[in-house]
Amino acid sequence: MENYIVSARKYRPVTFDSVVGQSALTTTLKNAIKTGKLAHAFLFCGPRGVGKTTCARIFAKTINCMHPKENGEACDACESCMSFNEQRSFNIHELDAASNNSVDDIRGLIEEVRIPPQVGKYKVFIIDEVHMLSSAAFNAFLKTLEEPPHHAIFILATTEKHKILPTILSRCQIYDFNRMSVADTVRHLQYVAQQEGVEADAESLNVIAQKADGGMRDALSIFDQVVSFTGGHLTYDKVIANLNVLDYEYYFRLVDSFLENKVKDCMLLFNEILNKGFQGDHFINGLAKHLRDLMVSKDVATLPLLEVGDSVKQRYQQQAEKCSAKFLFSALKICNECDLGYRASKNKRLQVELALIQCAQLTAPDDAVSGGLRPAKILKPIFTEQPVAVKPAAVVSAPVAQQPQVQKTVVSPSVQQQPVDTPKPVVKSSQSVMGKKMGLGFSIRNVNLNREVKYEISPEQQAAREAALQVQQQKPVTQEKLTFYWNEFMQLLPHEEAALRGRMESMEVKLLAPELFEVVVENKQVQSEMERVRNSLLLHLQKGIGNFRLQMNVRVAAPGEFVRAFTPIEKYREMCKKNDALEKLRQEFFLDVK
Ligand SMILES: [Zn+2]
Repeated sequence: MENYIVSARKYRPVTFDSVVGQSALTTTLKNAIKTGKLAHAFLFCGPRGVGKTTCARIFAKTINCMHPKENGEACDACESCMSFNEQRSFNIHELDAASNNSVDDIRGLIEEVRIPPQVGKYKVFIIDEVHMLSSAAFNAFLKTLEEPPHHAIFILATTEKHKILPTILSRCQIYDFNRMSVADTVRHLQYVAQQEGVEADAESLNVIAQKADGGMRDALSIFDQVVSFTGGHLTYDKVIANLNVLDYEYYFRLVDSFLENKVKDCMLLFNEILNKGFQGDHFINGLAKHLRDLMVSKDVATLPLLEVGDSVKQRYQQQAEKCSAKFLFSALKICNECDLGYRASKNKRLQVELALIQCAQLTAPDDAVSGGLRPAKILKPIFTEQPVAVKPAAVVSAPVAQQPQVQKTVVSPSVQQQPVDTPKPVVKSSQSVMGKKMGLGFSIRNVNLNREVKYEISPEQQAAREAALQVQQQKPVTQEKLTFYWNEFMQLLPHEEAALRGRMESMEVKLLAPELFEVVVENKQVQSEMERVRNSLLLHLQKGIGNFRLQMNVRVAAPGEFVRAFTPIEKYREMCKKNDALEKLRQEFFLDVK
């Protein structure tokens, strides 16, 4: 069997002209060789796999060529060129500084520098990943770099230029290698595929080029991998399956769903993508890239920035026409924010889903109000405003015993304070329906709501009901039950009542009589706050405990009576009041409260 040579080695360029995507740079090098104006030290910077070492080798071969061509290339026929091509030349020395970064390694190199070449004019020393040299090694090298013998030329290569000391930078001619464009990479891959007899469509090569992210070596090794996987028949579907690339089809569908405000479809699509094993951050970055591609395809001027195959280009342009620039900008911003928050988020799936929901609402009609810069964050209110406003003053002045649900139209005074939830009222108000859905028996904003409740019961039903109420037992009120339903009420308070909830948490609820409890509040203001919710609160407690005779008394504390526990010690004292064992525990274990 024929020895298998990886494509990156087999198709390594041997002339300046065959170097892909660095034409400006190779031309400069050729001109320098032609005119004989050679520096003694070069620094090749750029990302991995873009041809730094390759160019260094071609350079070494060319300057040693005995019969250079007119165009500045090596002849590839003389003894020197042959020895280079067969990798047996003594005029080239390569040092990988990533693994040989000690002073001794550099000393060995300096020894080599002293010896002039036997064949050819120059000795070329290539130091790869030069930023990895230790500082001692750097210092040892600096002297030689300053005053090298005439026959020595250094080519330093690095992926991280900023790590190179200024003393080195100032002694080198610097060449910056570009990341390769997708189009360049695809062209080279096409050439390799042709040489190897591999069938490949442009789309599949495009995916490989994008995955390689500007590095030809990576592109070629991915190419090899896919060729062996597909048996030499590269198609888009096979390549994305092998490279774990998300099909752009998903993004096209997603953006279509965004434009039609189909939140549901977006969520389902995302679910499908997750089920395929893709990560949320990978997906959101892909979506951002897709949106960016749509943005650049909107304008002819930016169209060259679109690095996709020709067949897909048209689809991008078509979808871009449907999207407004405002939409694309806002969606991009949402994706970016999602990406930034992704790591910190505990619920990563939700993070992405939220972004999708926001994107899908961007073109919704009510977006006109928000100006499109921010996604519409208006949620449909659960508690809608009632035209009949609640007058707090009136409520405060109302007698303690008043029961909101007991209205004149409903029952006779004799059965006051009886439960009204026994008959099923026909409720026409939407609020009450909403309340039922939420599982709440009340609505804070609609204390007077019950006024609108109309009972449609016959006189017979009324009589039967009254009789039933007479025999109905009121359940005993205990401190535990009271505290429990008090806490439950706090939890059910809507978000905008957070301040009240905070107040209620620190209030002491005390059962004074079998059917009367007292709440001590800090001041008058809190008292009126409590009066505002009195009816709903009481109704909640009554229903929960099962006693409709339960009454509440809200009292403003006497000076010095109300103690709010702020510091840990104050809190501890309050806890001790409730549980004596706590102090015993503290003493037993010699604990301190801090
Ligand atoms: Zn030659």
